[in-house]
Amino acid sequence: MKILVPVKRVIDYNVKPRVKADGSGVDLANVKMSMNPFDEIAVEEAIRIKEAGKAEEVIAVSIGPAKAQETLRTALAMGADRAILVETDDEVEPLGVAKILKAIAEEEEPGLVILGKQAIDDDSNQTGQMLAALMNRPQGTFANTVEIEGDSVTVKREIDGGLETVKLTMPAIVTTDLRLNEPRYASLPNIMKAKKKPLDTKNPADFGVDIAPRLKTTNVSEPPVRQAGEKVEDVDALVAKLKALGVA
Ligand code: AMP
Repeated sequence: MKILVPVKRVIDYNVKPRVKADGSGVDLANVKMSMNPFDEIAVEEAIRIKEAGKAEEVIAVSIGPAKAQETLRTALAMGADRAILVETDDEVEPLGVAKILKAIAEEEEPGLVILGKQAIDDDSNQTGQMLAALMNRPQGTFANTVEIEGDSVTVKREIDGGLETVKLTMPAIVTTDLRLNEPRYASLPNIMKAKKKPLDTKNPADFGVDIAPRLKTTNVSEPPVRQAGEKVEDVDALVAKLKALGVA
């Protein structure tokens, strides 16, 4: 069985984003970029399934600029076997990404596609669900645990107030939640080895899909600045303050 893992290059989660002066988006010039954290979890899970002898090949795919090669090399250094870069400088929305992934999945025929539950730059939380719908495949989103047995995969899903268990017949689509696993760091020898692993480069046009944007960003702004707090002497003073504000 093959596992396909889509990985997105996003602004590093430690970086505080700066909004462009004209409000047209986030300034990415000279900003540290990394693999989307939920996608690291997806790569880790795919590698663990392979290490358990339940998959033969892990293929990482990224849709983005030439620099997304670095993100794919990270996936290869973690343990993926090969990578596909679908190179474009345009911003591709979740629907466009899902259409490209569908075309790749039809070529590669993976038993599982494991995506992150959301990309931390757009926070869309859409691509996995759209891919499942376009491919008419079962989906297990927000996975907390993934177990493969024969031709089915059991996914414990994180839902409000607990866990829901679903059993899917493969081929299936899974999206990762934060507690699924702790991704490994790539070792230096593996980073060196990853440089020699195959990385194919394609264009969106190779897949003949329409990735024209459906959305127009009208404005991006900083969150409102928080008001300064106030220290109170004791609980009585706190209660009195809250009463004065009409919130207690
Ligand atoms: P989103 O729906 O944008 O929140 O993204 C959900 C997941 O879809 C991500 O965690 C990735 O696994 C995958 N994904 C989204 N955009 C891309 C992209 N440009 N290249 C590869 N994978 C992507």
